[in-house]
Amino acid sequence: MECPTCGKIYQIKIQVDRNIGIYEWPISFECQNCGEILEYTYSPKGFRPKAKSFEPSPSDPPITTIGYSSSLPITDDLYLKDLDYLQSMALSSPFINLSSHGHFTMEEISAFDGFLQRMQDNLLPYKGVLKALLPILKKGNVKAFSKKLADFFGKKNYKDLSSTQEVYDTYFELLEKSYHNMIPPRYEEDYFQKYVKPLRDYLDKVTANDVKQIKDKLDESGKISIWYKEKALPYIAQMADEIQKFISSIIYASAGVGNVKSRGDLKVVTISFDDAVDKYEEGYEIFANGLKIIAGLNNIVENGNINTFTNPKLGGAIGIIEFASLSVGKMVEHLENYTTMADYLNGAMNNKIRNASTHNSITYDPITQEVLCYYNPADQSKVYNTTLMEICWLCYLQLLHIIDATLLARKIVEKGK
Ligand SMILES: [Zn+2]
Repeated sequence: MECPTCGKIYQIKIQVDRNIGIYEWPISFECQNCGEILEYTYSPKGFRPKAKSFEPSPSDPPITTIGYSSSLPITDDLYLKDLDYLQSMALSSPFINLSSHGHFTMEEISAFDGFLQRMQDNLLPYKGVLKALLPILKKGNVKAFSKKLADFFGKKNYKDLSSTQEVYDTYFELLEKSYHNMIPPRYEEDYFQKYVKPLRDYLDKVTANDVKQIKDKLDESGKISIWYKEKALPYIAQMADEIQKFISSIIYASAGVGNVKSRGDLKVVTISFDDAVDKYEEGYEIFANGLKIIAGLNNIVENGNINTFTNPKLGGAIGIIEFASLSVGKMVEHLENYTTMADYLNGAMNNKIRNASTHNSITYDPITQEVLCYYNPADQSKVYNTTLMEICWLCYLQLLHIIDATLLARKIVEKGK
């Protein structure tokens, strides 16, 4: 690649895997020399804009290199480093490089590979389906919805639907399937089975009248059906359609690692910083408004009452409605000592990143991918350090949490009619 502004040359080392043939993959980085943001896409047809053709030779001077993989994190020594011919050949591929650095064990990488294969078969070819069907769902056009389904999955696999109820049920079935194809087995065990399944089981077990009471209570601070229709579903559909930007962060969920930083310095090359931060802020606000659904149900399961929080902060007893009217930051603070909720959230609602980003006091170093969050506008010495990879991981967690809350809300709305 040649920077169009200053002429600096970059070498991109691409991991050619199964994913790379499915889409046009984004590549985004900042020119070290002049600061220009260079943006390319890579597909089986090659680069756009077109790359220079270049045959490496041992006599070449070192060349700034970027490792690129659609699905794996990139190690530091393959990210914007000047490599001579021999070094460049030795760091043969992002895959071999990642496995030889000890960030993840061979077992963890191959478990992730198994998950990716399933994702490539069952999710990626259909990642746009939720987005394509959403406007038709809103319109309630049963015939058009059936036709669109057949376009995606083939006529044989889908019978014509006959009512708006069936259309909604089908959409939520697709959402449920998409969710299970987005989570690796480890996450399914560690999070879904442990924190979400008990809440669903509870709703299945109790009477419709009990569920109606839950629904009425939660609706007091804004209807939960409006929340998922207006906020959650459009966000989920968009994120599912852009899931390729976040795949390399899913390896942490696959290895059962909750803390991204504990696995060292790894880079992501499929999303720009601005894009990732925008997604983070959006997910934060939407999930904050759905938090009462999960917290309320958890209160019932854990403490027998929708209004009873475990170890509440902020000076004690507030009910679910008072909780829902707190500012989003206070909501998260309120749950800090609530072990089940804090473990489930897994840091996805990080106030420091969110505060810094809403106050526009967040800085990004494109060479190290380090992010500094000045989260207290009154005190510039208060800084939270994070990385682009961690922000991508948190976006991924938010997406899963928002789907959890949406599917629970749908269950409450349907059973508590
Ligand atoms: Zn340049």
